Amino acid sequence: MPMFVDTSPPGQCIFCRLVAGEIPSAKVYEDALTIAFMDIGQVTPGHVLVATRRHAATLLDATPEEAAAVMQTAHRVALAVQAVFDPPGLTLLQANGTLGGQTVAHFHMHVVPRHEADGIALTWPRKEPPAAVLAGYAERLRAAL
Ligand SMILES: [Zn+2]
Repeated sequence: MPMFVDTSPPGQCIFCRLVAGEIPSAKVYEDALTIAFMDIGQVTPGHVLVATRRHAATLLDATPEEAAAVMQTAHRVALAVQAVFDPPGLTLLQANGTLGGQTVAHFHMHVVPRHEADGIALTWPRKEPPAAVLAGYAERLRAAL
């Protein structure tokens, strides 16, 4: 997990201050709903963050328009990252909540160029429950949509 955790109050977080121009950033792109800038951590060269301009703590706090705009900007940035850095792989990572791995409570998505043995890891402990369990999960979700 990353070492950095932003504990600023909502609306005063480092990304809001960055959007407001109160702290410097290596900006890549911005539009009415999103901003993209170089992650200061640079897990790999070309690592970009795409965030909403408005403070929304997580995906769940973003409007459908903001969620779509972040993905559109991430797609645009990913194409540029691929053209410029030519990585053999590319990972998009969007984390929500402390247990989800989020370290700045302002909705954002990582665009991360990937390379052999780059040190990035996410364990994926498959459980493979019976089909009836999956059907039950799906039924509950359909009812909530
Ligand atoms: Zn914010």
